[in-house]
Amino acid sequence: MSRPGLATELLSGQFLKHATERRTLPDPMLADSISPGATKPEDEHRRDICTVGRWIHSRAFVASTDGNISVRLDSRRVLTSPTAISKGMMLPDDLVITDLRGKKLVGRRAASTELAMHLLIYNRRPDVNAVCHAHPPVATAHAAAGIALNKALLSELVISLGCIPVAPYGTPGTQELSDALEPIVQHYDAILLANHGVVTCGADLLTAFFRMETVEHFAQVSLVTELLGKQVLLSGRDVEKLLAARARYGTTTASTVTPGCPVTSDNIATAAGEPDRISITRKELEALIEEAVRKDRALR
Ligand SMILES: [Zn+2]
Repeated sequence: MSRPGLATELLSGQFLKHATERRTLPDPMLADSISPGATKPEDEHRRDICTVGRWIHSRAFVASTDGNISVRLDSRRVLTSPTAISKGMMLPDDLVITDLRGKKLVGRRAASTELAMHLLIYNRRPDVNAVCHAHPPVATAHAAAGIALNKALLSELVISLGCIPVAPYGTPGTQELSDALEPIVQHYDAILLANHGVVTCGADLLTAFFRMETVEHFAQVSLVTELLGKQVLLSGRDVEKLLAARARYGTTTASTVTPGCPVTSDNIATAAGEPDRISITRKELEALIEEAVRKDRALR
């Protein structure tokens, strides 16, 4: 209270105004939002990757130094998170620039060990400018159980991602993982990696990150419906209408190319791995039992 003029500031409300201004000064390292779009200065891409790193860490989509994030800078360069650092603690200068074959061009640190997976996606998908890989727990549990997130449970998921398949297992950080992904990266914007985690991609980093959030959210909803013991799937007709509406939402990837994907109330009985279930009322069951007993008596 010894600063000259402080009392006057307090009385006039100026102190509060100044204090608030000091707390909200724009600090690029503390930014909690990123703008959509893939055409930006390199500095902004660096800050965006650090921001998404903090988001996936704070949402517990990764533990320790897991996960990796990258952005396509132009036709020959990729900006990627480095290996062996918490994605919640990255600074813009920690990031690494490589070419599309993985050769380091700029950076003090080593590039992500999963860079080959990112490069596979950039090389196969000219529409993709950002890739996000993480281990969100419920979606990763589905990947570990070999359970695809492919049921037509939520209308918005049918529109946005269609199906989220499980890619066969491949050792992380090796060619095996890229080989397992290669046949399906063309068709899906989000893929579960068996016994590992999730990879998502998009036209920009915000989209790739949102898809990671959507996968984990859907995995949670799907799990809870399993725990509730009941899943009411959309019908094939419902799904057709949603797929027809995709263009209005700007969804372009045909992520429903696999027959029976997504699984609807019409095809659940024949979907791979699903038991052939029917449902009948108690009255119908009683009638069936009575009929069987009557026939049995008639035979004696
Ligand atoms: Zn991983």
